[in-house]
Order: sequence, then structure tokens, then C-alpha cells
Amino acid sequence: MSRRAFALTTALVLATALDVMVAAASGYNLRMEPLRLVAVDAALLALLVVPTLGAVHATRWIPGFPGLTALVPRASVLFAAWAPILALRVGRVSSASELAPHLIVTAILALVVFLETRRGPGAPRRAEALVAIGAGLLAIACGLAVPLPGRWMLTEPPPGSASHATPAQPNLILIVVDTTRADHLGVYGYPRPTSPWLDYFAQQATVFEQALSSSSWTLPAHATLFTGLFPRSHGADLVEGEGGMSLVELGRLDDTARVRPLSPDAVTLAKLAAKAGMDTGAICANSAYLFRYFGLDQGFQTYVDPPGSRPSHRPVGLGLGIRLGMDRFWGFRRLIEGNERFYLLGSEVNRLALHWLDRRRDRRFFLFLNYMDAHEPHIPIGRYRWLFPASDGPPKVAERAIRDRQRAILPEEQQRLVDVYDVGVRSLDDHLHDLFDRLAAWDLLDRTVVLIVGDHGESLGEHNELGHANGVYASEVRVPLLLRLPGQRDGKRVSRLVHMVDVLPTLVDLLGIENPGGLQGATLFGDGRPYPLVVYTGRYQYLAEHYPRYYDRTHYALYRDPWTLIRHSDGDVELYDIRADPEEKRNLAGEHVREVTELTQELEGFEEKVKPEFAAPVTADANEEVQRRLRALGYLQ
Ligand SMILES: [Zn+2]
Repeated sequence: MSRRAFALTTALVLATALDVMVAAASGYNLRMEPLRLVAVDAALLALLVVPTLGAVHATRWIPGFPGLTALVPRASVLFAAWAPILALRVGRVSSASELAPHLIVTAILALVVFLETRRGPGAPRRAEALVAIGAGLLAIACGLAVPLPGRWMLTEPPPGSASHATPAQPNLILIVVDTTRADHLGVYGYPRPTSPWLDYFAQQATVFEQALSSSSWTLPAHATLFTGLFPRSHGADLVEGEGGMSLVELGRLDDTARVRPLSPDAVTLAKLAAKAGMDTGAICANSAYLFRYFGLDQGFQTYVDPPGSRPSHRPVGLGLGIRLGMDRFWGFRRLIEGNERFYLLGSEVNRLALHWLDRRRDRRFFLFLNYMDAHEPHIPIGRYRWLFPASDGPPKVAERAIRDRQRAILPEEQQRLVDVYDVGVRSLDDHLHDLFDRLAAWDLLDRTVVLIVGDHGESLGEHNELGHANGVYASEVRVPLLLRLPGQRDGKRVSRLVHMVDVLPTLVDLLGIENPGGLQGATLFGDGRPYPLVVYTGRYQYLAEHYPRYYDRTHYALYRDPWTLIRHSDGDVELYDIRADPEEKRNLAGEHVREVTELTQELEGFEEKVKPEFAAPVTADANEEVQRRLRALGYLQ
């Protein structure tokens, strides 16, 4: 290898290693295929490094000037290779701690120069190469070791004295399988092998065949789960008009929907459990609406809400690739999206959860887990890439045309959505399997209540809808709900309609902890429901702004077996027979006028009776105070 090629390779390896190391140390998640990321980053960095080195060497041709390489230690050239990268990075440093990786980089480069000057001019460059390779290995180690966001949040003080769980006073593990549709699980009749573990779990649990969420998106649904109140009462929901806060303002996602957090006065399951002496912990994969700003952390002694990977911490090479428009290519986009997805993977949730549980095996606890593997973006890893036909590929759905109803979704578009979604569900199921293998080995399941529930579904083209938060069709509000009592050995099935508002009354009963009163559901095993079964989704501003024609309105659904009445705020009314037509394909509103009238009256009665309890306006002062607290905790910049 010629000396010049050797110098260039060394400079490139070092620059790449340093780039990736700084990114990892700043909180960029090297979640998938770190080696591929390093290779792509190196190729792109060459676009910066090669011209820089060329310019340094070209100084030899200036008449009367010996050239920069003759004047300074040759290894300084490596500084030059790093300089444009550092220059691109330095503007992004926003806190003292982010300077640390840059100082490490500078120290490594200084070491290279020092080694060369000690050996004298003309010495072989072996030392430089060794340092470069060492830095490369360090970068890979960073990639493998650093990317577990939230680990630092588990450094809470060791637990003091607390009660012990018994079959009569059990623990609780409450699991939300975010975005998981009931009808895409084997236990609910789906033919594909998406849920072998849940199917097995169902043999020792009670399966609620017709379970409804309280809404079709994350925050109001989780708040119902935690408070036992309908969204109309707990108020953690979309805000009409002024007030609230959006994910954009919180520096999280590009979502402009304005949202009111759960009130600090709300009585939550975690508060009740903590009051009863249980250790309370939550590991949330969802770093958007389970972010602590939205108030679902109330009552949890440990609450992990990961920051998600920030694009500002992206390695410089990848940033350059985006500027060059390379994200048009699926392979590159996959690499970027895989590393920057805004949630924890199931394997990461498991590691954090088991770390928390390991210290509490002999104590009484309430552990809440939220898994996001079924949520988009679906970037399958490893063997999941080829599990179903189109599972490894870009979504390729004409979202604008479909949302504007310019045309219906095509069968091949729909099939692709289903394939990609099913892979997410299957990987979620495998992660649950891993978790429960350990719980069984720890002998926890004979003194623990386990409840697994979805927070909402996902439209895969039904009614020409995509994703969730669109409205209240079954694809978005029918969720899996499985409950296993301590030591339960036989499976049961309940086909009557139940609602997420029923979960809290059931759990306080089973745990024997305080019932706060005023709950709006019934226990899952009883009857005597105080209110009808109502699901509500507000006007989701993000959709309303982009697609006003169908989304600038709110949606209610009222269920009375076998009927579902759907009423939109613009006056549209639909009626479906959920037993005969679970996919809601035949709108019977025109044929069953009497039912429509009765159910509409019932809905009006519900609106009359169920009053907002915690839906106070969010003032600018309150927002500023919250932002100040979040900034102090390092969440905002
Ligand atoms: Zn969700």
C-alpha cells in the first residue's frame, strides 16, 4: 500500500470511529446493525475527508512553500480530516456534558501527534494505525453498550422495607401492547402465526373477546386505564382551541396535535398501589405520549420514558447522506429510521424491566410495561425481515390520495401494510415470551396478577383509514384484553362487551387496595355498569390541518350489543351490527331508524351525565413551569 493510501485509510478509519463514538456518546441509538452503520458512515465521510486531505497535500505545490505536511507532524493531517466533522458538530452542542465526547476525540488526536513526534520525523505510521484501530473498536463498543436509553433512570435509591406479595395480596404486572389489534392475534382467530406466546398464555388466562379501548390513540387510552374514567372526565386528551402543548413544542416528534396532560389531581392506579405499600415502576417504550410531561408518571417511583434518538445527534456522515437525498433509497432510510425510532424495542423494555424486578422479587410491586413493537415505523430486524412476504420494504402507500379519498386503497397496498404490521406483532409476542420465561423461572406468576391490554388498534386500510387516531372504527378501538389471576391454570373466554374503563375497578378489587370511588366502569367479572360503553376520539389537529375534509371533526361510538352507533360531529351517523358484521362493512343506519334514535338519545344522556372532572385549561404559566422542570431534568434543550 502506498504511503498516501495508507495515510488516507488511517484518516478515514479514525474519522469514522470518532464520528460514531461521538454520536453514541451523545445519545444517538445505534440500535440496528452498528457495523453497517459504520460502513455507510465511512463511505459518506470520505466525501469530506478526501478533499480535505487533498487540500493539505496540495499546499506542497505553492511556489516557495514547502507544504503543510513538511512543516507539521504528519499526524496533524488527521486533525485536518476531523476538522470539518467537528465544525459540523460544534454548533449542535447544547450542554457541558455533550462537550465530553469532543474532548475525548481531541485527546485521542493529540495522542496520535504525540506518538509521532516522539518517534521523530519519518518514523513509520504504525502507532497512528494502532490508535485508529483502537478508536474504531471503542466506537463499536460504544455502539453495542450505550444504546439502552433509560438505563440511568433505574438508579433510584434501593428500596426500603415493604410488604411481601402473597396469592391473596398479589403483585400486579400491567402490560400495554401499544397499537396491537385483537383480530391480528391467533387467540382472537387470526390465521397467521403472529402470536404463538399469547395463544399459549391465553390457555391459562381469561380472554375478553370483545374489549374496547376508550379512544383510538395513546394518551386518553392510557389515562383511562390509570384512572378508571372516560376521556371526557379525565381530560388527558386533545385540546380544542387554545392551550395544551404539542410534541413539536416538546422537541419530540413532528406532530402538531395540541394536548392536555393528565391533571396532577387525578387519582391513578399507581398512586393507589404506592399508598398500599407496593413498589411502583413503569418502563415505557413509547417516548411520545408516555413522556412524563403528559402526567401518566403520577404515582410511579420509577418511571422510564426514553428520550428517543435525536436526529441532531446523528453521525455526520449520515447527516450528509440525508442532505444528498439518499433517504430516497430504502436501504439508507431503513438505517436512519431504525436507529432513530422514537421508542424502545421490546428487548430493551425487557432488560430494563428485569433489572427493576430483580431487586423486588421478594417485595410487593406494581410494574407497568408499554411495548411499541407493533407501532410504526416498522423496521424489522434480523429474521423478522423475511417472516412475511413484503415485511422488509418501504410502505409504498399513497397516503395523501387515500386520506383525501381521491381513490380507495389498493389491495396490494393493503397487503403490504398487513405484512409489515404482522411482523411487528410477532416480534412483540416473542419479546413477551422472553419476559415471561424469566418471570416463571423467578416463580413470580403464582403471586402476580397479569393483565395484558392494547391501548388502541391500527387501521390497515379499512374504511380507507391508515394508522390510528382517525376515529372510532373497530380496527382502531377493538383491543386484546387478557387477564391471568395468580396461579390460574385454565383458560376462560368472555364474549360480552367490556371496556378499558373496567380495568381499574377490577384491579383494585383483585389487589385489595383502596377503591377511590366515582369510577365509571364495572369490574370485568361483574355487571351493573353505571354508564353505557362509549368510545371517543377528538379532532386530531395534525390530521385536520393536513386533510380537513374527513378529519376536521370529532367521533363518538356507543355500543349496545349487538349495535354500534357512530356519530361524527359534522352530523354523519353510522350503525353496525358488531356480531354479524365485526368489520363494520354494512352501515345499517338507514334501515334501523328506531335503533339510531334510541342510541343517539343514550349518547346524549351520557354526555349530559359524564362531566369533565380534570379538564382544566392549560395556561401559558403552567406550560412554562413544566418546561422549566423538564429542562432541569435534561429532557428539553
Ligand atoms: Zn398507543
